[in-house]
Amino acid sequence: MTWDCIVVGGGAAGLSAGLVLGRARRRTLIIDKGEPSNRFAHGIGGLLGQDGRAPQDFYADGLAELAKYPSVEHRRGEVTGGAPGFSLTLADGTTETARSIVLATGMDYVYPDVPGVAERWGKTAFHCPFCHGWEVQDRPLFVLDPTEFGPDRAKLLSAWSDDVTLLTAHPLELRDDEIVLADGTTHPCGGLLIGVRLSQRSGLAALLGVEAREPNPMFEDGLAIDERFGTTVPGVFAAGDLTGTPPSVASAVASGSMAAAMAVHALVLAN
Ligand SMILES: Cc1cc2nc3c(=O)[nH]c(=O)nc-3n(C[C@H](O)[C@H](O)[C@H](O)COP(=O)(O)OP(=O)(O)OC[C@H]3O[C@@H](n4cnc5c(N)ncnc54)[C@H](O)[C@@H]3O)c2cc1C
Repeated sequence: MTWDCIVVGGGAAGLSAGLVLGRARRRTLIIDKGEPSNRFAHGIGGLLGQDGRAPQDFYADGLAELAKYPSVEHRRGEVTGGAPGFSLTLADGTTETARSIVLATGMDYVYPDVPGVAERWGKTAFHCPFCHGWEVQDRPLFVLDPTEFGPDRAKLLSAWSDDVTLLTAHPLELRDDEIVLADGTTHPCGGLLIGVRLSQRSGLAALLGVEAREPNPMFEDGLAIDERFGTTVPGVFAAGDLTGTPPSVASAVASGSMAAAMAVHALVLAN
């Protein structure tokens, strides 16, 4: 069977796309590896109606909503290959074909390898003050950003605390409630804001012939999309972090919805 649409990735953008495709009665397959970028976070900060909700609960509710739509299948898996036309290969060796694709695979958030950060990522170590600043407000906060953007990042964080220190050298360790700086001194620390770089999680878009934008300070290779969420390849749409728009669950939900609506337009008008 050829699907009307395959959605690759079932995070906020992919599930939102699947919902719109299902409500439009399109035969839709969502293939998801199940590793949304915010899975480490204590909660989703700043999403209307879901503020502070545990990400796992949010995705579970999204899946439950999708289950109401019989034309949508959600499958746990990883797409490892793709060819124009469109044919996708999964890690289990199976192949699926579709008339259109929505790419929603998110991005890798690359942060410096500082001991203690990985365990606290999405909690007291974070890249986005709008997501996590509220939870650490009025505590002593640190910003790790050796680039020219460090001073602006530190200024922004002052919206959440009067006690903000910019670090241009990597600290030795982040611990609960304190940080060990490069000079060996230990200081009280309620949160560490880290400048990150986002890059594609795989070469799938490139295999499909989809072009990326020029790198910018935050995004290495966000996909180029037009105002209809179409990529440089007709029939391939994209939504969420991988398009290089400022990352948030709200914008991923919105762009997934719009990309799916545009895919439905294209499918129906092509008949
Ligand atoms: C630690 C952290 C905390 C955050 N906290 C917040 C917050 O509080 N509030 C907020 O608004 N935003 C927050 N964000 C940002 C927000 O999580 C993202 O902007 C949003 O989740 C992006 O949604 P997405 O659907 O584009 O990608 P993702 O949520 O990353 O979902 C992509 C999905 O695609 C799957 N996938 C990838 N490649 C393949 C493949 N080849 N085949 C099949 N499946 C694949 C992945 O496993 C994943 O399940 C946070 C980000 C991080 C890293």
